[in-house]
Amino acid sequence: SLVDSVNIYEVFIEIYDMTSYIAKSKNIKLTYEFSDKSIKVCSNRDYIKQVFLNLIDNAIKYTPENKEVHVHVSSLDGNICISVKDTGVGIPEEDIERIFERFYRVDKARSRDVGGTGLGLAITKHIVKSLGGNIRVKSELGKGSEFIVIIPQKNFL
Ligand code: ATP
Ligand code: MG
Repeated sequence: SLVDSVNIYEVFIEIYDMTSYIAKSKNIKLTYEFSDKSIKVCSNRDYIKQVFLNLIDNAIKYTPENKEVHVHVSSLDGNICISVKDTGVGIPEEDIERIFERFYRVDKARSRDVGGTGLGLAITKHIVKSLGGNIRVKSELGKGSEFIVIIPQKNFL
């Protein structure tokens, strides 16, 4: 069915092989931790998959070789919290608000090298909003970024 009780860990494992393979090609270590492997959310599983894929794809793309990307999933007070944290290039303060806009990319030259259209975060934000959640980012230039997604486990669909 379209809307299901989705086990977040199972969805993550479905994409872990592919994403860790891409990470390995840059010698990036993709690590993860789930506070509880039975955490569920009321959603479409493809939506959750897309959120993981977009955030992990970015984390790997905008992180130099030999560094790390860490995924952390937990639940608190009826919300799930997904954190994707990298040790990459970071995002300038003045761009932070705009990265969720369609086609917005921070550094055109650099972005051209790594490829993409600038739609990933716009789609991700749209999905998260449609699930009644929100997404925010903490970033430090040259040190890395952390994208945090909060989704209520029982949402209005
Ligand atoms: P697409 O996702 O469509 O392949 P994209 O990755 O460029 O292309 P978004 O995922 O929407 O597009 O991200 C928008 C911009 O935000 C990126 O071009 C990049 O400049 C910046 N960005 C996103 N994630 C990160 C990150 N983890 N570290 C540094 N910059 C990031
Ligand atoms: Mg992207």
